[in-house]
Parts: sequence; structure tokens; C-alpha cells
Amino acid sequence: DPRLQGISQAIRVVPHFPKPGIMFQDITTLLLDHKAFKDTVDIFVDRYRGMNISVVAGVEARGFMFGPSIALSIGAKFVPLRKPRKLPGEVISEAYDLEYGTDCLEMQIDAVKTGERALVIDDLVATGGTLSAAIGLLERMGAEVVECACVVGLREVKGQRRLDGKPLYILVEPR
Ligand code: IMP
Repeated sequence: DPRLQGISQAIRVVPHFPKPGIMFQDITTLLLDHKAFKDTVDIFVDRYRGMNISVVAGVEARGFMFGPSIALSIGAKFVPLRKPRKLPGEVISEAYDLEYGTDCLEMQIDAVKTGERALVIDDLVATGGTLSAAIGLLERMGAEVVECACVVGLREVKGQRRLDGKPLYILVEPR
């Protein structure tokens, strides 16, 4: 797909952010580039339209920047998966491991119904721990996760991704 090169070029790499040694893939520059941003959303929409997906679940915070546009275009609802204590009402939580320590995602229990078909979206996958937690939340509510989608996949950690057997769709892999 010729659009992928423009998408890749629109993502800025910031060395030593947020801490020394990290090469941060910054998608905010993609959001500033109308063509690259639109191409990104269009590629996802073309892939997921017609797949009977009723839920697009976005991971806080950068999954929120792509998920709603995709949801509106494919006729699905958008469900935010948030960091702890951000969502009111009854929620379920799923903890996941970080490089150092753990974190947690929450989802409101009335957001999805048993049998709904869901897409999980985030900006970037590294180990897959975050996406696995997202899958866990949706499956605990009886939803079927059709696929996980990310703009960026980090090559280095490809072999370590644990996505519970769910398909993962990635647009670009930085070298
Ligand atoms: P994982 O759980 O190891 O797959 O890490 C993915 C999560 O970390 C996602 O929610 C990303 O937004 C975030 N993340 C890790 N590295 C980067 C980066 O270089 N740029 C943007 N987000 C990142």
C-alpha cells in the first residue's frame, strides 16, 4: 500500500523520551499531517467495514485518537478502556505487566453486551501486554474480539507478543 510510506514518515521518533534509552514513536506528528492521518483511518476503515463489528474499544490515551473516527465510519460504538479510577459507575479491571511494575485498564460493564464483535485499537504495540488486558476486559463481558489494530508495531519485541491467539494488524514497523 503506497500510503504506508507517508504514514511511516509522519511519525516522529524522539530519542530518550520519556526516559533515557527509549526511542519514542510519537504519533502526534501524524495527527498534524492531514493526509497521513486520513490515510491511517481510511486503511483501518476499509479493513473493518463490513465485518459486522459493533464495538471499537480504544486504549487510553492514544487509542482515543484513532478509535472514534473508525467507529463512526464503520457504524460501531466507541468504548474507552481507561486507566484506573477515571470511569464512573460499575467497572471491571484487568491488570497487566509493564517493564517495571504493573498497570491496569478499566471498562464500564454496561458498555458491551454478550456476543458483540469488537475491534481493539491502540497507537502502538510493544510486548502486547496492554492489548492482552484490553482483550481480557471485552471477553469477560462476553464480547468476541475480532482483531487488535495498531498504527505502529515495534519490531524488536515481535517474538514476545502475547495476544492470546488474537490476530494483530499493524500498519508500520519502524526499523
Ligand atoms: P505494550 O503493552 O508493551 O505492548 O506497550 C504498548 C503501550 O505502551 C501502548 O499503550 C503504547 O501507547 C505505549 N507505548 C510504548 N512505547 C511507546 C512509544 O514509543 N510511543 C508511543 N506509545 C508507546
